[in-house]
Amino acid sequence: MNFRIFKSSIEKGRVTLKLDEAGIVALPEIENIGRDLKRAIHAKFGRSFHIREVDTGSCGACESEIIACSNPLYDIQRFGIDFVASPRHADALLVTGPVSKNMILALKKTYEAMPEPKFVIALGDCAKDGGAFKGSYYTRDGVENILPVILHIPGCPPDPLTIMRSLLSFMHDFPCRRA
Ligand code: SF4
Repeated sequence: MNFRIFKSSIEKGRVTLKLDEAGIVALPEIENIGRDLKRAIHAKFGRSFHIREVDTGSCGACESEIIACSNPLYDIQRFGIDFVASPRHADALLVTGPVSKNMILALKKTYEAMPEPKFVIALGDCAKDGGAFKGSYYTRDGVENILPVILHIPGCPPDPLTIMRSLLSFMHDFPCRRA
């Protein structure tokens, strides 16, 4: 494992469970953000928001946090967010990793297969500018160098609440599609 990633994971500890100051899982926050998210998705996109995820060479921790979004604690599907297997069913392309050179073609093909309008979301510091892999001979230092990115979700990795908050601010900024 990359030493920088190993060191940072030791320093940060777990991120999947968001705890409040008393060390209790922040359930009310999940519910509040989720409720706002559901309302915003309904207003801007109709019934749901579909995401196709592509790992372009991440360390795996960003994927763990994405998977955690669907666990029984967060369960973001109930708020109108679905992860789909086909880019043809997706509103957004969620990209993790610094974009290794052998993933460039797959990434472009996935984007091309998506219907308009389509959005690219970079999740994690690697997807933004290479992060821990920045400057590596085999990466393109972020998705922006390949596709237009509309939203960056910061973190290494971002926890599920950060992912939910970022999606909510994207929904708020997005112009209404329902006349
Ligand atoms: S941003 Fe994500 S993929 Fe990159 S090192 Fe951090 S956790 Fe791993």
